[in-house]
Amino acid sequence: MNIAVLVKLVPDTAAMIRLNGDKSGIETRDLNWVLNPYDEYAAEEALALVEKHGGEVTAVACGGDDQVEALRKVVAMGANNAVLVKREGEYDQLASAKAIANAIKDRGFDLIFTGYRTTDDDSTAIGPMVASLLELPCVTEVNKLEVGDGTLTAERNIEGGSEVLEASMPCVITAQKGLNEPRYPKLKGIMMAKKKQIETVDAEAGDIRTATTTMDYPPERPAGKIVGEGVEAVPELVRLLREEAKVIE
Ligand SMILES: Cc1cc2nc3c(=O)[nH]c(=O)nc-3n(C[C@H](O)[C@H](O)[C@H](O)COP(=O)(O)OP(=O)(O)OC[C@H]3O[C@@H](n4cnc5c(N)ncnc54)[C@H](O)[C@@H]3O)c2cc1C
Repeated sequence: MNIAVLVKLVPDTAAMIRLNGDKSGIETRDLNWVLNPYDEYAAEEALALVEKHGGEVTAVACGGDDQVEALRKVVAMGANNAVLVKREGEYDQLASAKAIANAIKDRGFDLIFTGYRTTDDDSTAIGPMVASLLELPCVTEVNKLEVGDGTLTAERNIEGGSEVLEASMPCVITAQKGLNEPRYPKLKGIMMAKKKQIETVDAEAGDIRTATTTMDYPPERPAGKIVGEGVEAVPELVRLLREEAKVIE
């Protein structure tokens, strides 16, 4: 089985995010960057499938040289190959997806795994876009997967329940939390990943058609209200919950 895993670095979710001077993006200096958490589920699923069925896993990242770190993290987990689709400057989702699709279209992948979202730009777009550009089926937010001979069965949560789908392969799968328990890289894997040859291809992306105009912080939460202390405060608290917050009847 020949499997690709698309990966991207994101700021550590524990990091304090600040906007840059003209609020056109975030201040990236001094941030700690980690592999997008959903890409860890994607990578784990790909590696487990190859362990079971044989084959190879190729990690693919689109971006500048900094994204090599994302590739090395997946190689440390056990991926066989790493490809950087190199791009600089302004990009949007469609341009990223086109660059990735062009880079992988002739590599004969049976499965292409992505995270279902990133924890920074969070557009949930790349997996479905890559699938569309490659004219492949796509199952999103998958939390259980079984792969057969040329077909797969995937389960995903939907509002109030779950849905099971069958799809033909090749197929794009976007990984949701719960799909598996991602492994920690072993020391040997980390050492090997440091020396791993990264294949670099130039991005073929086309025009950039969206541009971020401004970003802003969420509105500040109003200050809390202290209605009193002890049991005497309960009637007033209940009144406020009923009449002001309207959260009880
Ligand atoms: C208007 C606009 C301007 C932008 N300008 C820039 C810019 O100047 N410079 C810049 O670096 N970025 C820029 N970006 C962000 C960049 O285009 C994102 O990488 C891309 O939009 C992916 O979106 P996302 O992170 O929301 O991915 P999602 O669709 O939420 O990610 C889902 C999954 O897709 C895969 N994936 C996502 N991105 C990549 C990637 N780059 N390589 C491999 N796999 C990936 C991962 O598996 C991920 O889990 C811009 C985005 C927008 C919308």
